[in-house]
Amino acid sequence: MKKLPEHVDFIVVGAGVAGLRAAIALAEAGKVLVLAKQELTESATQYAQGGIAVALSDEDEISLHLQDTINAGDGIVNVDAARVLVEDGPERIQELIDWGTQFDRSGTKLTFTREAAHSRDRILHAHGDSTGREIGRALHAKASSLKNILLSEFEFTAGLHVESGRAGGVELISGKGDLHLVSSSAVLLATGGAGNVYSNTTNPAVATGDGVAMAYAAGAEISDMEFVQFHPTALYLKNAPRFLLSEALRGEGAVLRNAEMIRFMHKYHDMAELAPRDVVARAIAHEMEVSRLKDPVVYLDMTHLKEDHIKARFPRIYATCLQHNVDITVDQVPIRPAAHYLMGGVRTDLLGRSSLPGLYAAGETACTGVHGANRLASNSLLEGLVFGARAGHAMRECLTGKHTASGHLPIQPAPGSKSTGVEPFIREVQQIMWNKAGIVRSRQSLDEAMQQLQTLTERLPLPSSRRNCEARNIHTSALLITRSALARLESRGAHYRTDYPAHDDVRFKKHSVVTAKDVRFE
Ligand SMILES: Cc1cc2nc3c(=O)[nH]c(=O)nc-3n(C[C@H](O)[C@H](O)[C@H](O)COP(=O)(O)OP(=O)(O)OC[C@H]3O[C@@H](n4cnc5c(N)ncnc54)[C@H](O)[C@@H]3O)c2cc1C
Repeated sequence: MKKLPEHVDFIVVGAGVAGLRAAIALAEAGKVLVLAKQELTESATQYAQGGIAVALSDEDEISLHLQDTINAGDGIVNVDAARVLVEDGPERIQELIDWGTQFDRSGTKLTFTREAAHSRDRILHAHGDSTGREIGRALHAKASSLKNILLSEFEFTAGLHVESGRAGGVELISGKGDLHLVSSSAVLLATGGAGNVYSNTTNPAVATGDGVAMAYAAGAEISDMEFVQFHPTALYLKNAPRFLLSEALRGEGAVLRNAEMIRFMHKYHDMAELAPRDVVARAIAHEMEVSRLKDPVVYLDMTHLKEDHIKARFPRIYATCLQHNVDITVDQVPIRPAAHYLMGGVRTDLLGRSSLPGLYAAGETACTGVHGANRLASNSLLEGLVFGARAGHAMRECLTGKHTASGHLPIQPAPGSKSTGVEPFIREVQQIMWNKAGIVRSRQSLDEAMQQLQTLTERLPLPSSRRNCEARNIHTSALLITRSALARLESRGAHYRTDYPAHDDVRFKKHSVVTAKDVRFE
């Protein structure tokens, strides 16, 4: 394994779609160090199934993609950011194709499918349901071909190095528990989401809110944390991960049945199973609650669909479920909603700049406001590409050639030390968040969550190992979500409160900004 340099021009924390795309943009300007805390291939990007949205088909228009994005965001999409997303999108996708991404085609023509809340067929996919893996493969190949990019896996970023009010490096714990300080002209956080704040999530284990927690600790502004998207349909089996069962299955005709095997979605929305994600997730949560079962589930039924078509269109879903002894073409598939995507994050402008000089963010870690209160399906891979590239270009302006980060490391190294109690601590946070700050919230449940999270602060593990740092980051992210959810006295998008079930456009058609002092809306 190569020894890490002490100084580089740019640091990119994260090797998903946003981090890799930013690194490619940066490589023309200087040396780039890309860090991943596990294998380079372990990221949400790798698990993205459905596809990537882009207005490229003959029947589509950029203005329609913009309108659909704005509609999904429920009144608070940053329209400038959304315009950038849809306008830059086609060029970024063409670039991906030029770098070898194999999107599915019919003959020579790209095939586009439709997902909920899109008014046109505009979702590109690869190998049926392995879109993220194919995009990640092509970006990784491109980045590996550029001599200015050093890709380094199993390097855990524990904190940001801030000197004279400027981010100028990162503090790392290697796989062996060694500490390093690496300095740079600018740092990009592209650490993905925070699904592991909740006990049920579709996210991989690496999604522990590290970027948001590090930026918050360094004093950067954090925005819209109350908006967590819950995916309605994740496989629910004991001892199996909450594997995502793509929305596209319902698009192809799969239906939902409650514990009594009765279809129920038409009671909740005219579009039944194709209603917006938050509506479907709440309907499932309600059906589970009224079933009064100890371990409630609902079922996804696609037994009436053509077996060959399901196997060809969703090969990865079919194979993964089969590994858990569920044949989706003949069995009723037990499912529950699960935390899926964080709309909030490190507040950035259209160039990925955070409020802290020298610190940038892109992808799921960032909050440009592009998704508003609810993300339109398949817009997040595109966001990573578009805003990753923009952040990379903007960071080039920071190049000083002077890297001065030095001094002590605030984390306490304890290589090899056992993190006693850290797993129960994490599970407690996850359970609190699932039960009290999840799909359906109220003043009472959020107050209880807040109180319990504050009590847990006394048992916060020391930042002495990677896992302890993750536990602290999960706890910080949980507090930021809960504080923001308490402050937003309305329901909007993915944030639903039973005590304030309607919009309050006068006070809250705004973005929240959470700081150590308060939560403000602007
Ligand atoms: C199951 C699933 C299906 C999805 N399907 C779709 C879809 O079809 N279409 C779509 O548009 N979106 C989809 N999404 C969402 C989308 O995949 C993600 O939002 C997007 O890939 C995030 O990309 P990213 O680059 O921001 O982060 P990620 O791809 O999650 O990458 C994060 C990187 O940061 C690194 N990292 C994290 N913390 C640290 C640390 N402390 N130190 C060092 N490195 C760190 C990780 O190792 C990883 O390399 C899906 C998500 C999931 C979970």
